[in-house]
Amino acid sequence: MTNETEELKHEMKNAENLHGHLGPFLVIGVKIARLAKKTLNLDPSKHNELQVTATLPLLTPFSCIIDGIQASTKCTIGNRRLKVENSKRDITVKFELKDFSKSLEIQVIPDAVEMLMSQLAKGASNEELAWKIASMPENQLLTIKNGWNQNLEKITDLEKAKRRLKSENLTLSIVKKSEIIFESRTHGIFGFLEAIEKLGDKLRDASVADKIVGKAIALLCIYAKVKAVYALTMSKEAEHALKECGVYFERDKLVNEILDASGKEMCPFEKIALTIVDPNEAYRKFKALQSLILKR
Ligand SMILES: [Zn+2]
Repeated sequence: MTNETEELKHEMKNAENLHGHLGPFLVIGVKIARLAKKTLNLDPSKHNELQVTATLPLLTPFSCIIDGIQASTKCTIGNRRLKVENSKRDITVKFELKDFSKSLEIQVIPDAVEMLMSQLAKGASNEELAWKIASMPENQLLTIKNGWNQNLEKITDLEKAKRRLKSENLTLSIVKKSEIIFESRTHGIFGFLEAIEKLGDKLRDASVADKIVGKAIALLCIYAKVKAVYALTMSKEAEHALKECGVYFERDKLVNEILDASGKEMCPFEKIALTIVDPNEAYRKFKALQSLILKR
């Protein structure tokens, strides 16, 4: 028996212990996890940064796949590294690293599922079918979406910053050359001012995802010469300023103005920003207002 078969048997045993019985869909879960680990070629130190989203019909026997994945990846509902979503038919499982540097989507080939369901209907035993799945060549059971042997999905810096902002509930994420260079949960403009302080010239050509981009942040983006900006909420003035300077941007919501923390008045930095065109002047004035506020 080869090492690989030995390993698979061992993982099947672990999954059976967790799940309570051995069945073909449990083994599919194990095989999905094994293929993901092999393809992503993860450094063992990164194993606890793996996150899984399983999309499948939330009915047995399909849902047995979930326990196969939990047993083989240690990504579980309990540690919140496994998300489960319902689907009508398709079975796909997405694996990604927390920093989004690697990701992979695996689909169970629908013909293989149909074959199993018809064999089960004919009275084949769970155990028998489990071993059948275990010995089935990977490429008859699973596909890596968008083709076998594809290069792992490469995402843009802006997309990475955007996903970080949402998944980690940040107020600011800055990515350059696939690396996260700055992140913050500070509200308002202080986070961005800190990034400029710390990184200075390194912000040039970086991609910025910020929860709220008013004209003040837009001017700072122009000042720092960033390449791209994403905002959950962007003001019309900010949009105008970024367009004028040819900075690429994406946004979800567009609003007339950005309010202060009380939600009643316009943010004080925004008030100053409205009268400024020159980004260097903007930076100087924001710093002055910041030190005034901090002294209060
Ligand atoms: Zn089961």
